[in-house]
Amino acid sequence: MRARVNIITLIVITLISFGWYFSLVSIRYIVPVILIYIVINIVGASKIQLNYFFVSHCKGITENREIALTFDDGPHPEITPSILKLLEDYNVTATFFCTGKNATQHPHILTEIINKGHIIGNHSYGHSKLFDLFSPSKMHGEITDTNTALTKITKKSPLLFRPPYGVTNPMLGRALKKTNMISVGWSLRSFDTVKNNHEVLKKLKSNTKPGDIVLFHDTVPNTINIVKDYLIWLQESDYKVVSLTSLLKIPAYEE
Ligand SMILES: [Zn+2]
Repeated sequence: MRARVNIITLIVITLISFGWYFSLVSIRYIVPVILIYIVINIVGASKIQLNYFFVSHCKGITENREIALTFDDGPHPEITPSILKLLEDYNVTATFFCTGKNATQHPHILTEIINKGHIIGNHSYGHSKLFDLFSPSKMHGEITDTNTALTKITKKSPLLFRPPYGVTNPMLGRALKKTNMISVGWSLRSFDTVKNNHEVLKKLKSNTKPGDIVLFHDTVPNTINIVKDYLIWLQESDYKVVSLTSLLKIPAYEE
């Protein structure tokens, strides 16, 4: 998609330049074209579902009432075990996109995630606020350091990567290509880190659709009760929680 936008922008700028050369249009028309180009790129970077810089798996293709649950930013020493207990009570599996830093600090929780049949994915090493500004080699280092940490503990080499904050850019595209990682986004964001339980549940209940990949965080206490109520509602609504790999039909680890 980005290539198409680049070509169209280049053609429009070339046409304006020719027009200006032959005194047909003002060169100032280039300014709005460049501004529109910048806005499109900012929107493309912030909306992972647009697949603007590279393809991310954000939703399963199915008409069955099946969805997958994902938890980002952990493992957390108190919240992740509570979530694991809850998932066990309702007999569902989920995917945990862990940071290398948290996994290294809480290896026994990571082991518990695996032992209970859940999937782990890579969510960068330090989840830096400046991650999107890192060079491709620094991003590559974050991805490989995290995979090394996760593999050391679980003996599994993850293939799934969720970009921190869901922001995509060409640098990350290059780093993912080099590491052969598969980018995974989401189709339904719970906003569990910013909204109250009532608001989150209301939104989840009205927006859940077949094939959804739902985004939670196992680092905020609110998430525990939200997930519990959501699981009850999913059962009542005949929704089945399936693993991310079965929903997307992709592997989670290197063979
Ligand atoms: Zn995150």
